[in-house]
Amino acid sequence: MARLRLADISKTYRRGTAPVFALRDVTLDVAEGETLAIVGPSGCGKTTLLRVVAGLARSDAGSVLFDDDEVGELPPERRGVGFVFQHSALYPHMSIYENIAFGPRARRVSAAAIRTSVLESARQMRVDEQLLPHFPRELSGGQRQRVALARALVTQPAVLLLDEPLSALDAQLRLELRLELARIHDATGATTLFVTHDQSEALSLGRRVAVMRDGRIEQIGKPRELYDAPANTFVARFVGAPPMALFEGTIADGRFTASRGFSFAVAGAAPGAAIAGFRASDVRLAADGEIRGVVRAVEDLGAESYAYVDGDFGTLVVRVAQTPQAGERVAVQLDPTRAKLFDADGKRR
Ligand code: ADP
Ligand code: MG
Repeated sequence: MARLRLADISKTYRRGTAPVFALRDVTLDVAEGETLAIVGPSGCGKTTLLRVVAGLARSDAGSVLFDDDEVGELPPERRGVGFVFQHSALYPHMSIYENIAFGPRARRVSAAAIRTSVLESARQMRVDEQLLPHFPRELSGGQRQRVALARALVTQPAVLLLDEPLSALDAQLRLELRLELARIHDATGATTLFVTHDQSEALSLGRRVAVMRDGRIEQIGKPRELYDAPANTFVARFVGAPPMALFEGTIADGRFTASRGFSFAVAGAAPGAAIAGFRASDVRLAADGEIRGVVRAVEDLGAESYAYVDGDFGTLVVRVAQTPQAGERVAVQLDPTRAKLFDADGKRR
């Protein structure tokens, strides 16, 4: 186990003659034994970041430290990292046992010690011992990911790197393995970077979560901090489902007035162009609501329902107790105390 520190990591690829800025000045610090989840849309640089930490890619600038050791010059096999990718690349011609034993064998430990550690890892990942003589093609997707995890953990890596390890699985298995990963983490205490494009997965697994966009880290914080105090409108919309509704407008004389439609009091806010954000739980249908619109669609998720209300202002998602009909005219009341206010450029006020 190690503390992991990245300082000012940048990495540019070339696409033809055009540069692609995959990572821009990425700085982060993961405590020994911590799980940091990294979340962001496809193409924002998550995989590149893991590859730089693993030593599979070189950064153009910046440093990677495990504890106090700069590892930038070390090849992957000397860094003490374990990794699992979205589509686990198990060696197809090797048995499950041999797949898990691959790392320990490369270290030339005794056959007995290899056997002990393979069985231990398999047990930890709940890979049935009877599967060990079988081949990857004989296993289900979920079983293969368990084997991939066992293979990553068997050498007791200083840092565990997980790149969307659950996203190829169906919903039921994804949830099961997600809980499993939390358990594994508690059991092994491995310092972990967990990458996903799914914000709910990130919030569930990360003690802290880093939100990335276009090669940059937009915000790092506890799930609750990202949800309650997003640093900008990108984080506000990316974290939490359904996404926060945003309204452009102006603040003057202690009121926010939306460019199209409604206004509410904002105590103590500096005047100027602004954006106000409301989550579905911060608004409700009410006969005397200040916003009027038409229900475009209703999403009934069983435990809760959401109405998508269209109006001059755009679309507002409202959590509803009684589900209205699509096409119904409704009035919506905002809870002004719950508004999140941003500058016109999207930074939190
Ligand atoms: P993510 O994992 O978040 O989807 P990636 O790290 O894979 O993002 O990619 C970040 C950006 O770098 C993307 O624009 C991607 O197209 C580009 N990229 C990744 N790998 C290469 C490569 N080997 N050559 C050129 N461009 C790349
Ligand atoms: Mg990726």
